[in-house]
Amino acid sequence: MKLKAIALSALSIALLSSPALAQEKVLNLYSARHYQTDEQMYADFTKQTGIKINRIEMKEDELLERIRNEGALSPADVFITVDAARLAKADELGLFAPIGSKIVEARIPAHLRSPDWTAFSTRARVIIYNKATINPNDVKTYEDLASPKMKGQICSRSGSHPYNLSLLASLIAHHGEKKAEEWAKGVVANFARAPKGGDTDQIRAVAAGECGVAISNSYYFARLMRSSKPEDQKVIENLGVIWPNQQSQGVHMNISGGGILKNAPNKDSALKFMEYLVSDSAQRYFADGNNEWPAVASVKVNNPALAALGEFKADTLPIPTLAKNAALAQKIYDRVGWK
Ligand code: FE
Repeated sequence: MKLKAIALSALSIALLSSPALAQEKVLNLYSARHYQTDEQMYADFTKQTGIKINRIEMKEDELLERIRNEGALSPADVFITVDAARLAKADELGLFAPIGSKIVEARIPAHLRSPDWTAFSTRARVIIYNKATINPNDVKTYEDLASPKMKGQICSRSGSHPYNLSLLASLIAHHGEKKAEEWAKGVVANFARAPKGGDTDQIRAVAAGECGVAISNSYYFARLMRSSKPEDQKVIENLGVIWPNQQSQGVHMNISGGGILKNAPNKDSALKFMEYLVSDSAQRYFADGNNEWPAVASVKVNNPALAALGEFKADTLPIPTLAKNAALAQKIYDRVGWK
């Protein structure tokens, strides 16, 4: 009897310390997404799989630095972030392992992924305008933002921000470096004020009459649309949304996405998590929670703001191309003074 007990406890110690067992139970997630609604999604994953998520949330560059410093001993299994250029940066640093999932490949369109990372959701870079002062026919394209007609009308966040780097990266891909630089120069010449703040600050500045148009990610506007605060409703009251370049390449799209890390100690959990994120239920969390579009085209969402924004033509430029052009985009912004 005594012997059996000893044998059992030895076995339980062996099981507890077995990496195979540990692998099924936890996922160490390094996330640069800071959206509250993501938490419901993570709870849903744990409910479905029994895998507990340990989450570390930091700014993207700090997270990347941390993963690099941790090296082969890094506990990080999955890195998720917003913006293609940041995913590409992680990839360039050699931090990712190939995802290697038939499910991800079947569900996510090819232009929204690379072998090492995939998009989970998409967001559009739209133009917000003041209905009282701007004729939307004057701003039908990104190119129109550089026209002398828009002198003193534009509000934007910093050129160094990944959202604007990706936008310029797409224009480099479509028009070449020279034209992209002329565009950036033209937009800077039309600024109503020096770049400051985030996209929502630009939207508020348009509402306040400080500028006529702003460049913003779609979900910031959708968030204001869905806000129950009277002051937010007041902000959007006289604002309209322009889907740029509908007769040409379509509106610039960016992504939120992630990948499995090369040194992931819980590779099985990581793969399960990636496959969960492209499932119908997770895809709906992205849409309903943060007002983004699901990367999986067949997923039906129930979001009044997205429904109100309606249909549009999206640019289908491969997302890895944006990442490839991001460094050049920064050089161009530096040259033209889009700080
Ligand atoms: Fe954002």
